[in-house]
Amino acid sequence: MTWLTALRDWLFGPPEEPQPLIRYPDAKVLTPFRNCPHCGCGSFRKGPRGGAAVNITCELCQAKFNVADIPGGPFLLEELPHV
Ligand SMILES: [Zn+2]
Repeated sequence: MTWLTALRDWLFGPPEEPQPLIRYPDAKVLTPFRNCPHCGCGSFRKGPRGGAAVNITCELCQAKFNVADIPGGPFLLEELPHV
């Protein structure tokens, strides 16, 4: 301990323990979404949108996906069941 840290501790008390980083075990790495993973088609109909999330439907095989339409994206959030 240097005189400087001793003075700091005397003035302000000992430094607080660093807080552990909050981790989100459920957080998924976002997958860039370009083409339909089933048929490779890159043409989609945009469906209902909720905030940054938008439902899209593949024009070729009608697979539905929920994607995040955000900068750097879109990113695949989940595949939706066929209706
Ligand atoms: Zn498709």
